[in-house]
Amino acid sequence: MSKTLAIDLDSVLADVVVTWVNEYNSLKDSDIAKEDIVAWDIHTLLPITEIESNSIFSDVWIHRWKDIPPTQNNIGKIIEKLKTENYRISILTRRERKTIPYVYKWLESKNIDCDDLIYIFDSTPKSIYPFDILIDDAPHNLAGIKFPKKAILFDQPWNRNFDWPIRINRLSDLFRIL
Ligand SMILES: [Mg+2]
Repeated sequence: MSKTLAIDLDSVLADVVVTWVNEYNSLKDSDIAKEDIVAWDIHTLLPITEIESNSIFSDVWIHRWKDIPPTQNNIGKIIEKLKTENYRISILTRRERKTIPYVYKWLESKNIDCDDLIYIFDSTPKSIYPFDILIDDAPHNLAGIKFPKKAILFDQPWNRNFDWPIRINRLSDLFRIL
């Protein structure tokens, strides 16, 4: 039977913080870079509230989805190749409902063809969803994963201090470790 890879969207497929930072800089007249975001809770680093930070995320998805880069070129081809290697691709993403149409457009524009697409609106942990392997950049999503499920950390500046046995820098690194 094929194994299911649950792949996070924000900061694993879509490098949304690049666009978030750009939006933040224009709103706040500042000059920060993605590499400066060294904590998961951005509001603990920058003069911004949690609500405002989240609202920039939604605004970026709604108004600037075309500007959001993928984390790697040809990401659709990488997904396609994983499928030919008999993995089911389940995109598992926690987000606000109003961003859904734009997520769909973004995935289409990047030719990302998944087997299912699961939106989480509440605080249910990702660990309870059906998958064999989770790929995520958020330490709190990985921490609850128990055997026989596995989790792979997707490297981002905000998780460099999180000690986790399997870390990848780009999605295509999966071919090396799966
Ligand atoms: Mg993420």
